[in-house]
This record gives sequence, structure tokens and C-alpha cells, in this order.
Amino acid sequence: MKTQDLLPIKNYIFGEFSPALSGKTLPCYEPATGQVYTSLPQSGSEDVDKAVEAAQRAFPEWSALPARERSYFLRKLSHLLEENIEAFAQAESRDNGKPVSLAETVDIPRSAYNFEFFADAATQFAGESYASSAHTLNYILHQPLGVVGCISPWNLPLYLFTWKIAPALAAGNCVVAKPSEVTPMTAYLLSHLCDKAGLPPGVLNIVHGLGQDVGTALSRHPAVKAISFTGSTMTGQKIAQEAGTRFKKLALEMGGKNPTLVFADCDFENTVSEVVRSAFANQGQICLCGSRILIEKSIYEKFKNALVEKVSKLRVGDPQDGNTQQGALVSQVHFEKVLSYLTLAQKEGGKILCGGKAKILSGRCEQGWFIEPTLIEGLDNSCRTNQEEIFGPVATLIPFTDEMEAVRIANDSQYGLACSVWTTNLSKAQRVAQEIESGIVWINTWMNRDLRTPFGGVKNSGLGREGGMEALRFFSEAKTVCIHTEKGPYEN
Ligand code: NAD
Repeated sequence: MKTQDLLPIKNYIFGEFSPALSGKTLPCYEPATGQVYTSLPQSGSEDVDKAVEAAQRAFPEWSALPARERSYFLRKLSHLLEENIEAFAQAESRDNGKPVSLAETVDIPRSAYNFEFFADAATQFAGESYASSAHTLNYILHQPLGVVGCISPWNLPLYLFTWKIAPALAAGNCVVAKPSEVTPMTAYLLSHLCDKAGLPPGVLNIVHGLGQDVGTALSRHPAVKAISFTGSTMTGQKIAQEAGTRFKKLALEMGGKNPTLVFADCDFENTVSEVVRSAFANQGQICLCGSRILIEKSIYEKFKNALVEKVSKLRVGDPQDGNTQQGALVSQVHFEKVLSYLTLAQKEGGKILCGGKAKILSGRCEQGWFIEPTLIEGLDNSCRTNQEEIFGPVATLIPFTDEMEAVRIANDSQYGLACSVWTTNLSKAQRVAQEIESGIVWINTWMNRDLRTPFGGVKNSGLGREGGMEALRFFSEAKTVCIHTEKGPYEN
């Protein structure tokens, strides 16, 4: 696949590639250089209407296909992605600023696996049945909803985009999808793979543009039966207002401020390495990153020093360089937001242990949006730095005295997405896991995902669950059919 030949980015509606109906475009930036490298359509509600009509046209045939045949297309997309890993990884890295090595080993393989996983799941999704008496049988049909909307963010662009559209298609729906306007490239490249796979026109439609235009139009559209959204809590609230009053099904995966609990009896070396990874992977721009590192007092100094040593050595550089561990932040707006939190943290009394400022690179990346990986200590959990989602290469260190205090601090947050617990005492780990308010708790591991498990957040981090059969249930409507076969004896 030669990405360069396919630019600029276009919408994909009813199997055709087209600009926005208004002809308007938006610039698409390369975060590592800070330069515009292509454009994307600035679509509006008229483009969404066109895409929804296309999806409606495709729905009767797609939903009537046996699951095995829908599965065939998903598997084909998975294979095509695998064949094009390198091109997709290059494109994702250029568009998002993440190290190409990360895109090549995590983002793109996982996107291919999302299709493969739901290709399998489509053929295993079954309705229950209940024999209520000798004469009465209830069985459950899980029927597709019709046209559904999928709205995704910029941090794991293709990974989260495919995580939504694969189950939606597997369950027999037709989709109008809106990737982030900040990172539209790999969703666009995927539309070319759909074309290659022979996916029937209208089954998947991809409309590019701003959230306030395309996202709002999709959330409001009367023919769109469900919205699956991943992004910030503020946007989730807006979508809930639009979609909730129209009684659409809603799955909202939103922000986080995840705690990492390090107990004195942890496996020290391994924990240091994994805690660094959990805080700084993808420049800290993963919703699951542990940005509040809670450390038991008796090992606080030793653990802090080990963290500082490792974090200071993280190689910040050109994302296209295979040795780079920390790439660029995704946009200038986000770069400035993260820097403003570094100023705030110091105003609130925080002490910067390492990092703390923008990183200036030379050569091709001198205008890029890079920030030194930063550790901060000395802040109470109640301050803004510890309560608000920064979503960058910034983590704070907070000491705790015992298990109860660790749980109290961990739960003192509006968010509840993920948590990791580091201890060799599994009884303690399980007690803590019971008490933590979050959708997932990892014990001595991080971002270790089995796609069959439910995924989602509590409190302001989410509503509903994705993953495995939960996703197929979300993208379908359960209908109970009750058959009475003959008269019972009491009716003679
Ligand atoms: P965002 O909320 O700004 O945008 C997400 C998507 O929503 C984009 O496609 C955007 O165009 C669209 N959008 C914006 N305004 C809209 C509106 N009014 N109506 C409908 N759609 C609209 O989020 P982001 O900055 O792209 O992503 C970062 C956020 O995503 C962070 O808060 C992060 O925690 C969260 N996130 C959560 C998860 C999770 O699984 N819980 C995963 C990844 C990212």
C-alpha cells in the first residue's frame, strides 16, 4: 500500500471515496514536525445524512447474511491489515506522533486482531433458551439494531476505531464511523482495505470532520440506533445529552486518572519497569496509563529513586526512529495543555523530580511537540494536578502508610477506569481489587488484555461495557420469543 498516492484523505460512503459535500477541508498535522502534511474533509450534517442513507440501504442484505459470511469479510480485513502492517504503522506514527515501533508491535497488530476476534465471535454469538414448562419454550433472538454510529479518539486511532466497528459489523449492523479529526489517516487507509476486501457498499461508511459537526449530527440522527463512543468525559456528556433524549443505546468509554498501587512487598525490579511503562507508554496518552503512582512509605525513597533513574533515561526522539521510546504529543493544543499542567503542578507546590519541560529536538523534528517524561512529588491527592486528567507523559508520586489509606487515595477521584496493584501478597491484592472503584484491576501486570473480558469504566470514566460478547450484546437488541406448543392438562 502506497499511502502517499492515496492522499488527500476522503470520506468513504457507499463504497465511494469523496470530499465533503461542502468541499471544505481541515489540515492534517505531523506531530513530530509540527507541519501540515495533508488534509481531510471537513464534513457536515449533509455528509452524515448521506452516509446514514447508504448504511440504511445496505442493512437489509448485510443483516440477512449468515454470521459465517459476515465473519468472512472481517477475517479478510484482518488478513489485509496483517499484510500491510508496515505501511499502517508508518502512517499511524506519522499521524499521531507515537513511536513507529509501538504502532508496529501494538496498535496495528491489535487492530488486525480486533477483526479476527470478532470474526470468530460472530459465529459463536447465540441466544439463550428457557424451557419454562413442558409446553412453553422461550428463546432469545439477538437482532442487529440497524445503523449505528462509532466515534473514536486520537490516542490509539486504528486500535480503538476497529474495536468498535468490528463488533458492530459482526452483529449485523451497518456503521457510520467517525474517526478523530486529529488522527484520521489509518481509518482512511482502512477504507481502502474495505474496498479491496469487497465489503458491500454502505456496510461501513467513514465520515471525517470535526466532532461538533459530524459527531453531533451522528448523535442526533433519528435513524442511528446506537452510539459507541470513546473519548473525553466532557464529550461523552454532550453525546449523552444528544443521544440519551432520543433513546439511542449508548456505550461511553471516557477519561481516567488511574492509580498505581505499589506495596513494599512488590517484586521491586519488575515493578519499577512496569510502572514506568504503565505511566509513559504512548507518551502517557493511553486512557489506562497509571498517572498517580501511590507508593508505600517504607520503600518510597528507594522506589522513587529507581523510577527517576529509569524515566530520565527514556529516549525522546523522532517517532520514525526505531530506537525512540517517547514520541511527540499529538497536537499543539494538547502539547500546550500538558505544559500548562506542569506549570500548575509547581504552583500547587509540586516538586519536579525529572523532566518538567518541552524537549527541543534538532533537524526534522525541531518544530515538533515533544515533552520530557516528568515525575512530580509533594502534591496532595486533592489538588487539580492529581484530580484532572492530563493525558501526557506526566505522573505524580504519592506516599501511603497502609492498605486502607492506599485504597482511600485511589478511590478519591471522579474517575474509575483502571488500576494496577503491585504486591507479592495475593490475599492483599484480592482485598484491594474488591475495594477499588474501577472497571479493571490489574495485579502485577498492566494493559494485559483478553478480548473476551468486559472493558469499561465506572463513575465519570464510562457507561456500559465493551469487549467479547458484551460488545455483541450492545450492538443488538434482545427479543424474547415465547412459544406455547399445546394446551396444558388444566385447560382440558
Ligand atoms: P475527544 O472527546 O475530544 O474526542 C473523541 C471523539 O469525539 C473525536 O472523534 C471527536 O471528534 C468526537 N467529538 C468531539 N466533540 C463531539 C461532540 N460534541 N459530539 C460528538 N462527537 C464529538 O477525546 P480525544 O481528545 O480524542 O481523546 C482523549 C480522551 O479519550 C481522553 O479523555 C482519554 O481518557 C479518552 N479515552 C478513553 C478510553 C477508554 O477506553 N475509556 C480510551 C481512549 C481514550
